[in-house]
Amino acid sequence: MRAVVYPDHGVLPEVAEVPPPRCPDDGVVVAVRATGVCRSDWHAWKGHDPVPLPHVPGHELAGVVAEVGPDVRRWSVGDRVTVPFVCGCGQCAWCAAGEAQVCPRQTQPGFTGPGSFAELVALHAADLNLVRLPDAVDFVTAASLGCRFATAFRALTAHGSVEPGSWLAVHGCGGVGLSAVMVGAALGARVVAVDVSPAALGRAREVGAEVLLDARDPGAGTDVAERVRDVTGGGAHVSLDALGSPATAVASVMSLRRRGRHVQVGLLLGEASTPPLPMDRVVAQELEVYGSHGMAAHEYPAMLALIEDGTLRPELLVGEVIDLEAAGAALAAMDRPRAGSGMTVVSLP
Ligand SMILES: [Zn+2]
Ligand SMILES: [Zn+2]
Repeated sequence: MRAVVYPDHGVLPEVAEVPPPRCPDDGVVVAVRATGVCRSDWHAWKGHDPVPLPHVPGHELAGVVAEVGPDVRRWSVGDRVTVPFVCGCGQCAWCAAGEAQVCPRQTQPGFTGPGSFAELVALHAADLNLVRLPDAVDFVTAASLGCRFATAFRALTAHGSVEPGSWLAVHGCGGVGLSAVMVGAALGARVVAVDVSPAALGRAREVGAEVLLDARDPGAGTDVAERVRDVTGGGAHVSLDALGSPATAVASVMSLRRRGRHVQVGLLLGEASTPPLPMDRVVAQELEVYGSHGMAAHEYPAMLALIEDGTLRPELLVGEVIDLEAAGAALAAMDRPRAGSGMTVVSLP
């Protein structure tokens, strides 16, 4: 089969002929029809995240079941499916409790094994991890859900418990941040979008933000958290750090009103992993601090129903659609992310 492969970190990924994946007994092989290009793949390619080499990237996929292992009960050849970027093992207490997104033995296509920049990809524990796609959701849109959009949805529903009329602050309007703006607005929240890029803020406005704050605006005079507290009449009920930096994590917590909820969605890697959060304020104002890591398959139907009825329109966040030959260059181009541009999705015939 054809797949996009890199032999070593930093070497331009190219299409090559590779052996097809073996179908796991408890899993399936999916014929990939669309797969998203994500900054997490770029981190792995750069060597920030260890992956086996040579490597096939890709973890945001949708396609058609092409082969089914003997232990699989729920799926058949021809089913249209997608999958969370975290796949649970299907055997541990966390998976049994519906918390596959934190399974200690999780697999992630494109990280723990070959990914979906390929004609075929193997997925483990299919009965637990696969998600059936409604006919109304096309493959490109479905591929845009598995990572940033589902993560934003779960951050706001399971952790943020966003309610109509409440204030939501979103710090960082890249892919996951814009997804959070769209989901928050669709859930009836009043959204304050924070970024340093006018282009990103413009996109945030288009997908539902009510207030735009340029975190670097020299004329504003006060720090951005104070400005969020001002425009929300005392602070946001829920605030997300969708970027992942010590500054945005702190600003998100400081944006909250009393009893507010901070959700950390952006990854804080390496030296950034211990931001100086104001825990005195967390205690005195009884703030809640959550981490959010994807979304388990059983939680997808609620999100898909809102996509089917048009409440959520993730297709608006998709930018370029490219073919497999262009995928390697698109991944390498994430060296220079373009604020406000939509996500790139690879479409396969
Ligand atoms: Zn598990
Ligand atoms: Zn991703």
